[in-house]
Amino acid sequence: RKLRIGVIFGGKSGEHEVSLQSARSVMDALDPLHYTTIPIGISKDGRWHVGKGAWKALEAKQPAALPSKSAESTPSSAKRFINSQIQGLSPVEAKRSPDWLPPALVNEVDVVFPVLHGTFGEDGTIQGLLEMAGVPYVGAGVLASALGMDKVAMKQLFSAVGIPQARWVGFTRASWSQDEGRIVREIEEQLGYPCFVKPANLGSSVGISKARNQRELIEAVRLALSYDRRVIVEEAIDAREIEIGVLGNDAPIASVAGEIVPKHEFYDYEAKYKDGGAELRIPADLSPEERKAVESYAIRAFQAIDCAGLARVDFFLERGTGRVLVNEINTMPGFTRFSMYPKLWEASGLAYDKLLDRLIELALERHAERS
Ligand code: ATP
Ligand code: MG
Ligand code: MG
Ligand code: MG
Repeated sequence: RKLRIGVIFGGKSGEHEVSLQSARSVMDALDPLHYTTIPIGISKDGRWHVGKGAWKALEAKQPAALPSKSAESTPSSAKRFINSQIQGLSPVEAKRSPDWLPPALVNEVDVVFPVLHGTFGEDGTIQGLLEMAGVPYVGAGVLASALGMDKVAMKQLFSAVGIPQARWVGFTRASWSQDEGRIVREIEEQLGYPCFVKPANLGSSVGISKARNQRELIEAVRLALSYDRRVIVEEAIDAREIEIGVLGNDAPIASVAGEIVPKHEFYDYEAKYKDGGAELRIPADLSPEERKAVESYAIRAFQAIDCAGLARVDFFLERGTGRVLVNEINTMPGFTRFSMYPKLWEASGLAYDKLLDRLIELALERHAERS
């Protein structure tokens, strides 16, 4: 029997559109001789669409405030609904009822591939749901996902295990509104200008700005706070940007390293997703020492958060000093055929479809070890 893979995409996230692109590539590449693919779309307002019509439903962009009668569905009617969707017998309707979804997922899929980036997808929330449902899934578990997504928690942990990084200051929306002046002074004293301001939990550079002075800093913090209740500000590092892929569970391995050369002032959303916004150099031109440092810090970062499956670790290679600093770990990196993570593995000898096979295998192994 073929393995049934539930591919989850979209999601309540600033990276919803990015997820659609990643998931499209994954679904196109899953070999129909070995897998049955079940599309599971989550709209921006959190509605679930299962089965053949899921893509259309998300593309059609349902109005945000449609009251959902189906929220009162009983588990058995929900189960019938899922079955009918999977067999493509009826049109897809909006559904939002996490209390019935897990049992249905358990019965209809063998492995879930949550191709979700950012909040409610890369941050441990969907992973928790899948754990409760007892379904094997690709990628990091609850703890690693949450730690990888929250830049403040991530940096605290990285410090604790001796991973070198840029200096940073983190604070909440509440403390900012209580004492903006004190926080600005702290940033100016500890980091100076320019600095980078980021929502603590996001990705794809959404909500990130470079601030060159106090006015820009305050503006940048307001923007970041509109995305998240917690914000992190970092000293700006003048650096080459290096990324590396990690793959595995308890014995993770590293890919070749790649370099990003953004055409913009930094690697912002446009540079990431518009053609020609950035150049990817694979493999990156590194000395053996630099290569070794990047590889070992990547594995250390992966193990520090207790990651599983995959991660892309982003680095700064500082100009002048040559310092190797970890910027962050991404537990569900961009996954189109042209994204850095799959390209790094391709350059390491693992083609896109083989990478998917391996990730599914790792999901099953991790599940078996935990149950
Ligand atoms: P991803 O899409 O990789 O998840 P993200 O939204 O988590 O991205 P970061 O990787 O932290 O964001 O930052 C995005 C980009 O901003 C970096 O690739 C880099 O170009 C720039 N940047 C971020 N922090 C700094 C810093 N401290 N110094 C210099 N440049 C930085
Ligand atoms: Mg990130
Ligand atoms: Mg990310
Ligand atoms: Mg990054």
